[in-house]
Amino acid sequence: MSGTVLVTGGAGYIGSHVVKQLGEAGRKVVILDNLSKGFRNAVLHGELIVGDAADIELVSNILTTANIDAVMHLAAHTVVPESVADPMKYYGNNTCTTRNLLTCCQRTGVKHFIFSSTAAVYGMPDGPVATEDTPTLPINPYGRSKLMSEYMLGDLANAGGPSFVILRYFNVAGCDPRGRIGQSTPDATLLIKVACKAALDPAASLAIFGTDYPTPDGTGVRNYIYVEDLAHVHLKALGYLEHGGESRIFNCGYGHGYSVREVLDMVAKVAGTTFSVREESRRPGDPPSLVAGTDRIRAELDWEPRYDDLEMIVRTALNWERHLFGNG
Ligand code: UDP
Repeated sequence: MSGTVLVTGGAGYIGSHVVKQLGEAGRKVVILDNLSKGFRNAVLHGELIVGDAADIELVSNILTTANIDAVMHLAAHTVVPESVADPMKYYGNNTCTTRNLLTCCQRTGVKHFIFSSTAAVYGMPDGPVATEDTPTLPINPYGRSKLMSEYMLGDLANAGGPSFVILRYFNVAGCDPRGRIGQSTPDATLLIKVACKAALDPAASLAIFGTDYPTPDGTGVRNYIYVEDLAHVHLKALGYLEHGGESRIFNCGYGHGYSVREVLDMVAKVAGTTFSVREESRRPGDPPSLVAGTDRIRAELDWEPRYDDLEMIVRTALNWERHLFGNG
């Protein structure tokens, strides 16, 4: 019932939190990460293999020799504006890599596949909340590169491939409450990370991208989810598939959002400081508002958020940023 799990991207930000929780749950884990964005010392559990998830020979070998039953595929590029500037990078590393990985899974008979997708597949939903049945109309290459992988998973499952859970992540933030792992990418562009940096470093710059959106305060609204809650979803999804659950898509969020200004106010409050903010024009590829409908995940995965608390999320992110800042 509980075989070895392969986690691609397990040395990265979200992957390292998933690996940590799998370890705490007593699961046997192999991590495959090319360390392009990940860090060796972020892997708190299991065996790390340094390599690429697109490497068919390497992956087939791992799946066979480590007796892998389930794959969690988190390795990906995730920056929306970068995907607009360099789409082939995204179709290569996100879509083509998933294709190679699935080819290996099919050949070796992997039973279950958990795929990290994104709210970006929805594009600009009509209503304030996107449910899993909201039409997928991505407006940037990042979202499209992930949606193509979703299609592949569905087609392969119909042809006898692994059962799957697709997790559409909304905006992931925060770090391990004990401060052992966090979001370490030096050039990360995510709002909470960038704002925490600005709170600590007067030389760091911070811009609000767009103040004329049709939202209550004119800035973009997103549904921030704590990385520990998101990691827990992966364990729930694994248990669900291992107990015979049918292939399914789940939104990962809390069902409500915060604007950019609300997030910046919280960072200033938690940091006990102010920082200067420029107002700039909208960033290409950004929708005004993205909030997760969460009825399905709560009902079918029996998942409840444990940390739906922006202040706590920001506090852990800020502590991690202090740790990075202190280490130069
Ligand atoms: N954002 C911003 N300044 C920044 C980074 C992000 O105003 O330096 C805004 C962005 O336009 C969006 C929200 O914050 O409305 C979240 O962006 P982020 O890059 O964190 O995640 P995304 O939603 O693009 O995946």
